[in-house]
Amino acid sequence: MPGPIVVLGSANLDFVVRTPARPGPGETVFGSAFTTVPGGKGLNQAIAARRAGGAVCMCGAVGMDAWGEVLRDTLRADGVDVSTLATVPGDSGTAHITVQGSGENSIIVVPGANASVTTLSAPAAELIAGAAALVMQFELPQSVLLEAAAHARRHGVRTVLTPAPVLDPVPGLLDLIDIVVLNEHEVTRLSGLPDIEDATRALSGSRTVITTLGADGCLLAAHGEIVRRFAAPAVATVDSTGAGDTFVGVCVARLVAGDPLPRAIEWATVGAGISVTRAGATSSMPTWAEITAVGLT
Ligand code: ATP
Repeated sequence: MPGPIVVLGSANLDFVVRTPARPGPGETVFGSAFTTVPGGKGLNQAIAARRAGGAVCMCGAVGMDAWGEVLRDTLRADGVDVSTLATVPGDSGTAHITVQGSGENSIIVVPGANASVTTLSAPAAELIAGAAALVMQFELPQSVLLEAAAHARRHGVRTVLTPAPVLDPVPGLLDLIDIVVLNEHEVTRLSGLPDIEDATRALSGSRTVITTLGADGCLLAAHGEIVRRFAAPAVATVDSTGAGDTFVGVCVARLVAGDPLPRAIEWATVGAGISVTRAGATSSMPTWAEITAVGLT
């Protein structure tokens, strides 16, 4: 029986305001709608992997506020183990999103409790040592990502990183990652190369790289070479929010279930294709039953 998928990442509550026009400095305007939505790339990927059939444990932190309980309950409701998700003094991570009539977003992220996760707790370290995979993003301090990746490598645990939001990685971090999954913007920024294929090849020297290309599918590269291009299904797109996180969650769940990487990517492509036909991030993420109902072409 393989260990769980451990997601070491952020949990945020998104406050979404819709408004016909954004206020200028000193101005007040009426908005037309308000919603709160659980999010954060860690929470999103944990839920995507769980719905795709993985046993998932979430490591990170929420605050001692009402939002902390909402985030914990959201993960629990999907069957994610939150026993290593810390509750720390202060506020939970929040994202403040203004959506204008035109559909354009402005976002302010306040990391809150996520910023407190600077080192690996003893329970998290123990969990990672027996994990089937460690999944991380760039929404926690990189000091903890480096410590966790080194710990995973010592224990022979596969590591998967989504370097988003894109930042310069701390020295040594990428060398401890087995699979990097990133989008076009992130791969060009990290590699410094404008061409997507060149950028993907360049990053894949000592690790596997998957560059997701939206409706154009994704590229798989290893050892400095493009191995394969995967086409995305033609679907009626409603909202692509969370497609990347769905892709990662499904891919990791299938890898841990024993699929070879190309097959796991095929399933991830089906899962992400379903997610873009529905609104929202976690609300759009499919279950394994929904993914298999579509099936591989
Ligand atoms: P997001 O930030 O919106 O979550 P991302 O930029 O991280 O997404 P994308 O490259 O946009 O990631 O999408 C990830 C995967 O989702 C793609 O590789 C593809 O499989 C699927 N996908 C995205 N958009 C579409 C689409 N319009 N039609 C079909 N599949 C899509």
